[in-house]
Amino acid sequence: MTDIEANYEEIRKGLPDHVTVVAAAKTRTVEEVATAVRAGITVAGHNYLQEAGKMVGAFGNEVKWHMLGHLQKNKVKKAVQIFDVIETVDSWALAELLDRHCAAMDKIMPILVEINSGREPNKTGVFPEKVDHFVQRLADLQHIRVQGLMTMGPRFGDPENARPYFLETKAAFDRLAAAGIPHIEMRFLSMGMSNSYEIAVEEGSNMVRIGTKLFGPRTE
Ligand SMILES: *Cc1c(COP(=O)(O)O)cnc(C)c1O
Repeated sequence: MTDIEANYEEIRKGLPDHVTVVAAAKTRTVEEVATAVRAGITVAGHNYLQEAGKMVGAFGNEVKWHMLGHLQKNKVKKAVQIFDVIETVDSWALAELLDRHCAAMDKIMPILVEINSGREPNKTGVFPEKVDHFVQRLADLQHIRVQGLMTMGPRFGDPENARPYFLETKAAFDRLAAAGIPHIEMRFLSMGMSNSYEIAVEEGSNMVRIGTKLFGPRTE
């Protein structure tokens, strides 16, 4: 068995069945991702449009692709062609543009709203106290469908320190689910990476994005 297969087995063993593992494929090769898919990965994510464009074509319908990086407005059209889910919607301007391109392609794009749970000024994402109003507005757009929330949270050496940020994002998720806004689903809560996913799942995550622990350390 290759390392990637052993790593996936190890990760999966520690997770409840309802948690989806998104293979974070940035800097990885098609061969590495193909190995992960043979091991059982069905959802992969990418941060960079160019590389993702090349990679996605190598896989068929067996893999769903999520955009994990910040989406620049001039790249929305390409992103709509490549991805099955955009996890990083964080502004009305971006949402509207996505909606427009999806309409032109007769497509409905599932999206997650990215939460800046650490309220870090130089990071992307909607502040937790702004998300309710933002999601209300998104309900009017016909060609995107909100299916949940995503957060990165601040980076710490000790992932235990990330717990309050996961908690706060889960609280927003529950609040929005209870609000019962038409066309809005709270199905996916994407939180947790290699060093923090176990804590994120304890706090209610059902979608973890894993690169290093699956593929090994990034060299680039
Ligand atoms: C790279 C990346 C991950 C995975 O990070 P690891 O620490 O390698 O597991 C998860 N989410 C996003 C948005 C990323 O860019």
